[in-house]
Amino acid sequence: MTLQPNSIEARDVAYHLHSYTNARRHEEVGPIVIESGEGVHVTDTDGKRYIEAMAGLWSVAVGFGEKRLADAASRQMQKLNFYHTFTHKSHQPAIELAEKLIAMAPVKMSKVYFTNSGSEANDTMIKLVRYRANALGQPEKKKIISRIKGYHGVTLASASLTGLVNNHRAFDLPMEGILHTTCPHYWREGHEGESEEDFASRCAADLEAMILAEGPETVAAFIGEPVMGAGGVIVPPKTYWEKIQAVLKKYDILLVADEVICGFGRTGNMFGCQTYGIEPDIMTVSKALSSSYLPISALIINDRVYQPVADQSSEIGTFGHGFTASGHPVAAAVSLENLAIIEEKRLVEHAAEIAPYFQEQLGSLLDHPLVGEVRGVGLIAAVELVTDKKAKVAMQPPGAMAAAAFGLVQANGVISRAIGDCLAFCPPLIVEKEHIDTIVAATRKGLDELKATL
Ligand code: PMP
Repeated sequence: MTLQPNSIEARDVAYHLHSYTNARRHEEVGPIVIESGEGVHVTDTDGKRYIEAMAGLWSVAVGFGEKRLADAASRQMQKLNFYHTFTHKSHQPAIELAEKLIAMAPVKMSKVYFTNSGSEANDTMIKLVRYRANALGQPEKKKIISRIKGYHGVTLASASLTGLVNNHRAFDLPMEGILHTTCPHYWREGHEGESEEDFASRCAADLEAMILAEGPETVAAFIGEPVMGAGGVIVPPKTYWEKIQAVLKKYDILLVADEVICGFGRTGNMFGCQTYGIEPDIMTVSKALSSSYLPISALIINDRVYQPVADQSSEIGTFGHGFTASGHPVAAAVSLENLAIIEEKRLVEHAAEIAPYFQEQLGSLLDHPLVGEVRGVGLIAAVELVTDKKAKVAMQPPGAMAAAAFGLVQANGVISRAIGDCLAFCPPLIVEKEHIDTIVAATRKGLDELKATL
């Protein structure tokens, strides 16, 4: 593709450095510039319309172009465009949203702390955990265990929690005190003849062995997404979470549920924790909290976390942390309206009702010669691509197959996401059967086109 001089694409190449994008290749191919969105669709500057089968970045739960959210933002901006929450100040949207999140939480929670992105929420979690350890007089109990392929963000600390090579290698990460245990992907990691339940027991045993090797008195917290998202939509094996939680209880280790993707309906319940019987001490939420109409995230913490932090002895000082935009009134007002829409339109119930169709239809791709596994729960799924189903291997180099398939599926009018050797799907919660049919047909066609080139 040659870029027209001064076109919007050429100006993007000239001035804009992108995230997760090969910059040299971008200079050649340029961007697809998305101009507008409505419902499950977005339209680019050439007028081509796509189904956004990833809800943007797993986030636009209520769909694109929701006027109620634009109106909520406008109303709040005209009333109070900004105020902060430092040093005993507050404002109504932050108070109402905090109250709402405590009421919605699946277990008894105590307080909400606002941040602006998933990364900031998880980064703040690490600081809270460290502060709490110092406040409790347990300064050695600060290590955090995460999982291989977990995704928790990209700041130096949250990228350390993330368990992906690409987020570590060139950044001298992970930082000290953050460890990664077994990835609970049964299809990939399970041994020959091992049942799902036995694999879950092995994951829990690996975790326990790590805790014992490090010394339980040094391990403060464990973080996990109920269902792993950006690591490739990895659904935990049966009995996984109950076994993991038993180990954490035994050694007095806090459980942090990263609900940044799962939260607000994705798995067919309001929270992923409910789908898997997880009882967290801390939850981090973002994305569907505002349907990404504005940046906002939050930590929801219980009394085990709050009380020691509240004590704030003179030795350690007040909790010296906070972002200018923490609990931003416009983002909070939009989030409240977004949650009202999710409840009024019964979008969580809708997600639960339509999920079997979504999973079955995507599951039908398993008969395709290039598909090794289709996995998912609720309205999140991944199709794992292989060239040899039995050996479970894909084309070299790693990721090449999914990148090619992604481009073909996108040309067919459906935006998915290539992750490693899989294609991920995570449509807005308002998705209907006819959209699912289009998503699956476009994917099958893309895979047929890919097969023809091999
Ligand atoms: N946690 C999870 C589970 C995520 O999926 C993401 C983003 N994909 C993050 C944290 C980081 O969020 P952000 O990109 O808003 O920093």
